[in-house]
Amino acid sequence: MSRCLAARSLDHVVIERGEVANSWRTERWDSLRLLTPNWQSRLPDFGYEGDEPDGFRTMPETIDFIARYAQVISAPVRTHTEVTSVRRANGGYEVQTTEGTWKCATVVLATGACNVPHLPAVADSVPPCICTVTADRYRNPAHVPPGGVLVVGASATGAQIADELHRSGHPVTIAVGEHVRVPRTYRGRDIKWWMDSVGVLDERHDEVDNIDRVRNLPSLQLAGSDDRRMIDLNSLTDIGVRLVGRLAGMNEGTAVFSGSLKNLCALSDLKMKRLLDRIDTWATEHGLDDGIAPPHRFEPTRVEDSPPLRLDLAAEGIRTILWATGFRPDYSWLHVPVLDRKGRVRHDGGVVESPGLYVMGLPFLRRRKSSLIDGAAADANDLSAHLERHLDGNGSAHWAHSPRRRS
Ligand SMILES: Cc1cc2nc3c(=O)[nH]c(=O)nc-3n(C[C@H](O)[C@H](O)[C@H](O)COP(=O)(O)OP(=O)(O)OC[C@H]3O[C@@H](n4cnc5c(N)ncnc54)[C@H](O)[C@@H]3O)c2cc1C
Repeated sequence: MSRCLAARSLDHVVIERGEVANSWRTERWDSLRLLTPNWQSRLPDFGYEGDEPDGFRTMPETIDFIARYAQVISAPVRTHTEVTSVRRANGGYEVQTTEGTWKCATVVLATGACNVPHLPAVADSVPPCICTVTADRYRNPAHVPPGGVLVVGASATGAQIADELHRSGHPVTIAVGEHVRVPRTYRGRDIKWWMDSVGVLDERHDEVDNIDRVRNLPSLQLAGSDDRRMIDLNSLTDIGVRLVGRLAGMNEGTAVFSGSLKNLCALSDLKMKRLLDRIDTWATEHGLDDGIAPPHRFEPTRVEDSPPLRLDLAAEGIRTILWATGFRPDYSWLHVPVLDRKGRVRHDGGVVESPGLYVMGLPFLRRRKSSLIDGAAADANDLSAHLERHLDGNGSAHWAHSPRRRS
């Protein structure tokens, strides 16, 4: 957004409570790699220039990438400055920070979608003898007490951490809720290459049927690694991880799981098949069939006939619960009445209901790729254009190119 504002000669400041790339420095586990290939982090006028476009950045490489970008574009960043309050004032906004107060005509909320772990209500009933860790606090297996681990959540984070913990000697049980299974590679190409080429990631917020539903979909069950291996429930089963259903309750140290495991896995397999069908159709239409591997399908997710519905944690040797149940934004400092009853910012493709207020970086904000690094460029371009019109027209900005939603 800073790059796009500068390109429009709009004076601005970027306020950051930590260092540039703070979330990548402080909220990720040690072995994490981006699950998007190197080529796919395309920021405005800045992309990957190394000789491994299909590799996956480590955390230090990701931090370096974003920090270098801030330098290259001379982003006016004030680091170690925390925003403590944003409220409306004199037709614009008053922004209080730990380093003083700003008065501004417009504000872009770019504080991320993953500020605080989203824990299910059952978390309150976990007995104190069980150690609990959230994914943003997890660093590596050595920090987890010896013994078994119940990983709750089987999307990208839960599947990767379950794999790492089990391989390091912690027997893992994984509680599986709704998840989105995709292969790492298909017909010799990375799944992200296919999704990008087919146009899946460019689908717009005003084109999908149920935007609330898609905004709440879990992340793809995917991992980035040198050997490009697929981490899914079958690969976890192969190394000895036990699958159970969604964690539904906790009763005096006994975890209770829903009986939906088989159905959820079947649904996820079906959705994966639909994605692969779409890819195959596109490949045929674009004349690729002769040059690449033929279409194929993956083994369905293997699920025990009667997975356990209750587990006595102590008797099973489970000493830790790792919550990989997603995150939510923190807007405790936002004193503008734009939050819905679930605490989410009400917005239309990033344009918040309060004039001159914008939001970035949320799932499916404007496009399916909005929550990826790669989605920031297009969203910032659109929103900075709207913001400029708002400044020019003093409040009468509208979407010039999106008549279906606003006029
Ligand atoms: C585990 C995990 C893995 C991911 N893997 C990938 C991946 O492989 N590829 C990909 O493209 N995307 C990935 N993402 C998504 C990626 O994090 C987002 O696309 C990207 O971080 C969005 O950038 P952002 O700047 O909007 O938000 P963030 O990176 O969250 O940055 C928000 C910034 O705001 C600052 N901030 C928050 N509150 C305040 C405040 N009150 N005052 C001042 N500053 C504040 C924070 O310190 C932070 O630096 C992943 C996310 C997670 C959680």
